[in-house]
Amino acid sequence: MDIQDLAQRLQNAERRALARAITLVESSRADHRALAAELLEILRGGERREALRIGLSGTPGVGKSTFIESFGKFLTGQGKRVAVLAVDPSSTRSGGSILGDKTRMELLSRDPMAFIRPSPSQAHLGGVARRSRESVALCEAAGYDVVIVETVGVGQSETMVEGMTDLFILLLAPGGGDELQGVKRGIMEMADIILVNKADGDLKPAAMRTVADYAGALRLLRKRAQDPADFPKVLPVSALAEEGIARAWEEMRSLADWRVANGHQASRRGAQARAWFEDEVRQALLARLTEDPHLRDLMRESAEQVAAGHLSPVGAAGTILAHL
Ligand code: GDP
Repeated sequence: MDIQDLAQRLQNAERRALARAITLVESSRADHRALAAELLEILRGGERREALRIGLSGTPGVGKSTFIESFGKFLTGQGKRVAVLAVDPSSTRSGGSILGDKTRMELLSRDPMAFIRPSPSQAHLGGVARRSRESVALCEAAGYDVVIVETVGVGQSETMVEGMTDLFILLLAPGGGDELQGVKRGIMEMADIILVNKADGDLKPAAMRTVADYAGALRLLRKRAQDPADFPKVLPVSALAEEGIARAWEEMRSLADWRVANGHQASRRGAQARAWFEDEVRQALLARLTEDPHLRDLMRESAEQVAAGHLSPVGAAGTILAHL
C-alpha cells in the first residue's frame, strides 16, 4: 500500500481515499496499525485544516438520522462539506452498525459534498474510541468543514464522543421526563445544546412544553463558567419538516466561535490530545500483554501459580511489569 499516495488523494478530498483510510485505521492488524500511524503522521505535516466537530446523541427513535439528513443537507446547501461518523460500541446487530440500514440518510448519502461512515462492527469501547478519534482526524485532513459524530445514548459512549468533539448536541423527543426518554443526567450535563425534535403537527405543543421544561432544568443544573450565560440552550426543531435547522446551526456556530475567540476550543482540543496520547500508551501496553507470545505465556503461568498459592498476586504482577 502506497501511504504517501493515499495521503495525497485523501487531502485532495477523494471520498474513496478517505473511506480506504478509515478502513485502515479500523483494522487491528499490526501491519495496518503501523501504516495507519504513518498516514496520520503524514497528514499532520500537511496543510492545517480544522473542522467543527459535533457530537450528536439521542436514544433510538428520537430522529437522529432524520435530523442528520436535514441538517447535513442544510450545510451542504451552504457549500459546506459534511462528514458523518457513527459510534455504536454496544451494537450487536448484524454488521454492528447503526448506519447499516441503507435507507438512513438516503439523500445525504448521495450528496457529493457529504461522506457517511457507519460504525465499525462489534468493537469494544476502547477500540472504538481510538478508531473514531483517528477517523475524525482523517475527515478533518480531507477538508470536511463539519464532522458529526453520532452516538446512541448509553452513557459511556457519550463521554467518549464528548472527548473528541467541540460541541455536544443532545436530541430529545417531545414529552416525558429524562427517565422516560432514557436520558441519563450525566448526558444532559454534557449537552451544549439540547434540540427537542418533532416540533411539528400534533406534537408541537408537547415539544414546546418539553423545551420549557428542559430550559428550566438546565438553569438549575449548572453553569459553565467559560461559556456565554445563555448556554446550554434548548431549542425546538423538526427534522422532518426541516424547521429550526438554520437556527440550531446558528447557535452551534455562535457557541463554537465564542469558544475559539476565547481560547477555550484550543484548550479543549489540547486536553483531548493529551487524553488521546495517554490512552494510546495504555492501550499499547495492554495489547503487548495479549499479543507478545512470551508475555502471554508468562501471564498464564503466573496466573496459575497465583491461583495455586505458589506466588503472591502482587509479586507475580511485579514480575510481569518488569518485563514491560
Ligand atoms: P433515530 O433512531 O434516532 O435515527 O430516529 P429516526 O431518524 O430513524 O426517526 C425515527 C422516527 O421518527 C421515524 O419514523 C421518523 O420519521 C420520525 N421522525 C424523525 N424526525 C421527525 C420529526 O421532526 N417530526 C416527526 N413528526 N417525526 C420525526
